[in-house]
Amino acid sequence: MHLLCHIRRFVSLAALVTVLGAVLPGGAAQAAVAWAHGSPAPNGVPRGPAPPFDSSLLSSLDLQAAANEQYGPHARLVGDWKHLYGLRVQLGNHLHNLDVARAVRKELGTGWTVAAVGPTASDWRGFHVGALHNQTVAVMLIASDQLNDVSGVRQALAHYASVLDVDYVWYKLRATVAPRFTTPLIVPTSIDSATWANLSTSSADDTHRYDLFNAELNAMEAWVPYPNTRYRSVVAPYAGVRPDLWLGAADGGPVAAGVPRETSVACDPAAPLSSQCSDASYAIGHELGHAYGLKHSCDAYPQYSNCADSIMQTGKPMGAILLPPEIAHLQASPFLH
Ligand SMILES: [Zn+2]
Repeated sequence: MHLLCHIRRFVSLAALVTVLGAVLPGGAAQAAVAWAHGSPAPNGVPRGPAPPFDSSLLSSLDLQAAANEQYGPHARLVGDWKHLYGLRVQLGNHLHNLDVARAVRKELGTGWTVAAVGPTASDWRGFHVGALHNQTVAVMLIASDQLNDVSGVRQALAHYASVLDVDYVWYKLRATVAPRFTTPLIVPTSIDSATWANLSTSSADDTHRYDLFNAELNAMEAWVPYPNTRYRSVVAPYAGVRPDLWLGAADGGPVAAGVPRETSVACDPAAPLSSQCSDASYAIGHELGHAYGLKHSCDAYPQYSNCADSIMQTGKPMGAILLPPEIAHLQASPFLH
């Protein structure tokens, strides 16, 4: 197992599976995939796989039933399932809009809110906000001019999930506990890509340091309530593939906010991280640390000579550390599992 641990640090997941598949009996390759996404316990023994995304609070919707509820028994759902807002309700010769939020209220009741897990009409869901219990709600904001780029949004979701996956694996590795992220939700915004880009770059200016954060918060809150004592949130904007936009990550109490880079890079926690993946998972991982109550390491614990290596100072995954009191804090937090 020591050899495998060593291998894991230096070869890609695909290469690892190939290596194991070649030397282990049938079925081992699949197990190796699960193992590679788990994380070693302190004694070096692999932990079981732990999918980082919680989909238990999502419910599908019967949109045809919603059309009938809203427009009567003769209403027919028509239109374009390939876009989030593509559906219409046909009644005689007239087309009407479908009220998906109303569908959520009627079909699922109070405590639920309307959500989308992707950019098509098949991605509408109800989200059981009232049942959130110590999760970290993951939200990806979509620039107004990107929403109809279905494949682009899907790729961005995969990128964002991969960055969160790195942070999940990293927290498990360093603290033995990690956030329980919900399946990332998309939130359409009225802000276009150029404006998101400007908000990111202008955050270098002190007077505009929190403009990006505030814009993200406003956009998120249109769909997902501001976190309360029962959960935390992590959010990042998609403004097209812009791995160069890395300025402006911030936290505000229970919300960790990333930047366009976090939705623009594909990262694999089982392989050596590119510098962009290391930066992206640092930005999110650091702001999450604040959202879970950690301060900057060298301010809070100057007695530790290695405080700068913590993710709460300048340490970046996967090499970033956590100081013993930071680990203790996270292990006592209800938001890490
Ligand atoms: Zn900070």
